[in-house]
Formats: sequence, structure tokens, C-alpha cells
Amino acid sequence: MQRRALLAEVYSGRVGVTEVCDASPYLLRAAKFHGEPSAVTCPVCRKEPLTLVSWVYGDELKHAAGSARVTEELAKMTALFEEFTVYVVEVCRTCSWNHLVQSYVLGTPGMRNRRPGRRTAAE
Ligand SMILES: [Zn+2]
Repeated sequence: MQRRALLAEVYSGRVGVTEVCDASPYLLRAAKFHGEPSAVTCPVCRKEPLTLVSWVYGDELKHAAGSARVTEELAKMTALFEEFTVYVVEVCRTCSWNHLVQSYVLGTPGMRNRRPGRRTAAE
């Protein structure tokens, strides 16, 4: 995968660690407050386990779009919204390595129509 290729570049010295580890202060803050520890040790510095941060995106989310959420919040949001996308980023808080590990869609289809008081005359 892309991650493996990138790491191979780092190990071979073709790509500098500082180029790869470009986590913004915002991402590192999110890792600190919303991150969940993983069992995987950082592949770059090998000093600490990676922290997983889940970012949510979607038109429905309005101001919440682009924010980091913990697992319990994701569960609540699944019940509240029809569809939103979660991007899971692994972050090393020691060397700032970060990489998108997966993305998936959550939500409850038909949610909006089921909400009371939102029915249209056509229903
Ligand atoms: Zn690291």
C-alpha cells in the first residue's frame, strides 16, 4: 500500500522524516484530546504507540464537519445523521508522523424523514 511505499522511502533516506511528519499543531492537539491509543508502535521513530484520530466530514454536520470525534461520539452521531464520512488518521505524538489509515461512511439512512415534525404534505 501507499503507506508501505512511503515508509520504504523514509528508511532508504530518500524522503526526510521531517517531510513525512507534517502533522499540524491542530492534528497533534486533536490526537491529545480526541485520540485513542492503538496497539501499533510508530513505524518512524518507534518510541510510542500511534494515536488514532477520527475526523468527521459531511454536509449534514454543519459546524461539526472537520472536527475530531471519539468513538462514543461517533455512535451518537450515527443515530443523528443520515450520512457522514469518518477519516481515521494515525498520529505519532513524538515525531508527528501521520497517515490516513481508513475512511468509512456512517449514518442512519432515512433519518431525516423519520424525524417528527419534518413530514411534508406529500407523505
Ligand atoms: Zn513517531
